[in-house]
Amino acid sequence: MLEIKTTETVREGSIFGQISTMDHEQLVVCHDQATGLKALIGIHNTTLGPALGGTRMWPYATEEEAITDVLRLSRGMTFKNSLAGLNLGGGKAVIIGDPKLKNEAFLRRFGRFVESLGGRYVTAEDVNMKTSDMEYIAMETRHVTGLPQIKGGAGDPSPVTAYGVYMGMKAAAKKAFGSDSLTGKKIGVQGVGQVGKYLIEYLVKEGAEILITDIFEDKLKEIAKSTGATVVDPNVIYDMQMDIYAPCALGATINDQTIDRLKCKVIAGGANNQLKDEAKHGQILMSKGIIYAPDFLINAGGVINVGAEYYGDYHKEIVFAQTEKIYDTCLSILDKSEKENIPAQEAAIQAAKARIEAIGRVKLPF
Ligand code: NAD
Repeated sequence: MLEIKTTETVREGSIFGQISTMDHEQLVVCHDQATGLKALIGIHNTTLGPALGGTRMWPYATEEEAITDVLRLSRGMTFKNSLAGLNLGGGKAVIIGDPKLKNEAFLRRFGRFVESLGGRYVTAEDVNMKTSDMEYIAMETRHVTGLPQIKGGAGDPSPVTAYGVYMGMKAAAKKAFGSDSLTGKKIGVQGVGQVGKYLIEYLVKEGAEILITDIFEDKLKEIAKSTGATVVDPNVIYDMQMDIYAPCALGATINDQTIDRLKCKVIAGGANNQLKDEAKHGQILMSKGIIYAPDFLINAGGVINVGAEYYGDYHKEIVFAQTEKIYDTCLSILDKSEKENIPAQEAAIQAAKARIEAIGRVKLPF
């Protein structure tokens, strides 16, 4: 019998070391020489159902960076789908490379890898992937969602994500300021992409004072012109005096370099994995008295949207009504955090795990 040394398989930082620490079920490495496709699919937990989570395309500097990202993101999806009350597990895919590499052959090859998993993983769009990309993937697999409306899909999930973030932000504001009104509140939105731009629409309607930042100046100018928002340099957003910081770009922006610069009372945004070190930075935010609305809780609108589409039961009003519940869930998690004196992220993870354990009747080690 083949003997595998335990020390080899769980070496810290190794692939098995990382997978066992975060307790993933599977990590799939996909490669296609002809199209240049290099992708990773992370399946974290399928107790509640097929692992659903979008595909991100990013020119990662190293393979390690991509592995860490897919593992963190897919774990986050387990908690997100559980807290949103969905019958879906947690998964995510990353494609390594410049988004310019995408074409029909490239995306269809990726679709075949998704198909090969027989429905254990269901894909959708994430950063640098559009509904039109899902059309090509759908030519090879039915385990894809987030298709354009003209193809019978529910279209871009970002407006629903933004609505959920808005609900979570209002709940966090209620906790921090005693009222959920955002009128007159100074809110810094980092990243004016799909989620950021729809979020800003809600904030404008409520009469918030908005600061915006992005690495693409053209987008900033356009949004500043149409909304009256003030443009801030990407490097100084953390230093700004603001009531609420809304990270809507990439993850890990709350880290050792930024956390002491933050002067806000609330953090509530759409980006995944905002805390670089979940335990450490969650604890620091709590000790600084900053109310943190856990990212995977408040950005679940998108997965509620694509989940309904995947199960063939899509009704826009129901999806928005389900997303609105993020307000109540967020308040209850923030109350739990206060009552038990634990960081909000930890409180949210505990609640997400409790549902999985109750449904799956298993005690989760992660
Ligand atoms: P997007 O690519 O449309 O927008 C991201 C924006 O952030 C871009 O405009 C980009 O230029 C900007 N950006 C990147 N780095 C930046 C930096 N250092 N400083 C300032 N701006 C920067 O992506 P999106 O769909 O809006 O998603 C944003 C975040 O929300 C991502 O973390 C994504 O995983 C998460 N999310 C999105 C959805 C969804 O429905 N789109 C759902 C859940 C979570």
